[in-house]
Amino acid sequence: MTQKYDPSNIFAKIIRGEIPAHKVYEDPKILAFHDISKAAPLHILVVPKGEYICFSHFTANAPQQDIIDFFKKIGQIAQELGLEEAGYRLITNEGENASQTVPHFHIHILGGKKLNAKLN
Ligand code: AMP
Repeated sequence: MTQKYDPSNIFAKIIRGEIPAHKVYEDPKILAFHDISKAAPLHILVVPKGEYICFSHFTANAPQQDIIDFFKKIGQIAQELGLEEAGYRLITNEGENASQTVPHFHIHILGGKKLNAKLN
């Protein structure tokens, strides 16, 4: 990855507390908050607080335990939000072809209705 992390991205500002977010979970390494433009009745973004641009940057550079904790926490958040029984979708957009708009790694949790089977 040649791209350099840009600390002025909007999620970095949310993590630093410079702009508000409707938070659902926070610990020293992970933050989860409602997406401002929801694509489902429940649309949560989960981000590591470290400076990772995208999925591949996170998995290649974060400490192994942080990667494990991050993905386990996503499951716990979905469960706590009551999404587990009916099901939910996880999405991450990586780079230009996936139309990633915020260059800070994040996972979308989408749930609360039956989602369209079409993924593109
Ligand atoms: P992506 O296209 O995967 O990079 O997703 C970025 C997501 O961030 C989009 O779903 C946006 O609606 C969401 N978003 C952008 N700005 C904010 C914000 N200030 N608070 C919460 N979500 C945001």
